[in-house]
Amino acid sequence: MKTCYMCDCVKSSYEHVPPKCFFPNKGIAGKDLKINLITVPSCDLHNTKKSGDDEYLLLFTLLNYAKNNIGERYFVLDRLSAIQRHKSLKNKVASIISNNPVPIHINNEESIAVNVDMEKIWRSIDHITRAIFYHHYKEKLFSPLTIYPLLALLPDPRSQTYYEKSNSHSQIVNVSHKHFSLLSRYGNNQEIFYYQIDDSSDSFSMRICFYEGVDFLSIFKKQKAS
Ligand SMILES: [Zn+2]
Repeated sequence: MKTCYMCDCVKSSYEHVPPKCFFPNKGIAGKDLKINLITVPSCDLHNTKKSGDDEYLLLFTLLNYAKNNIGERYFVLDRLSAIQRHKSLKNKVASIISNNPVPIHINNEESIAVNVDMEKIWRSIDHITRAIFYHHYKEKLFSPLTIYPLLALLPDPRSQTYYEKSNSHSQIVNVSHKHFSLLSRYGNNQEIFYYQIDDSSDSFSMRICFYEGVDFLSIFKKQKAS
């Protein structure tokens, strides 16, 4: 009997990785991007659909400047009207945007930097990394993860150490992007999602990328499940 990708409970369903809500309909994408989606067996507890974190991560990626055109179209043509229709979504967006925004410029365009609930984002990325590991190796990943956002997630500009922190952050981003540019990309609908794995050393690293620009790096020790 199959067990959950994250624990030893018997599976109660198959969970999409990343969640199905990341894949827009054909009308928006211009083609079918919901084909051959990755699924993993999951128990009730580890099916993230129920937590509300997935929707938060989706809004976070769609509000990010680094998304591609499909992400932009998905946000403008679909999620915006959903946000207007559903109070809970509206509250989620408000909680992201109204959290002490700071005006910034990115590529000469005006934008805002906001504080986000990183706990929720980390929880989602943690689940996705473990699910992808299970999908890729057919083994469970139990080691703790260190997760870095590989995007312009800067420390609070009002803090004293802003420049030092943002410099070391950009270094991590640059080195990672250069490193992963040489590795294979996996995933059938790469405009929406793909992943890359470097298992050449004692530490694994996995890059996951949404909408061709919003990406995260997870690092973990090689430790296969018993
Ligand atoms: Zn489980």
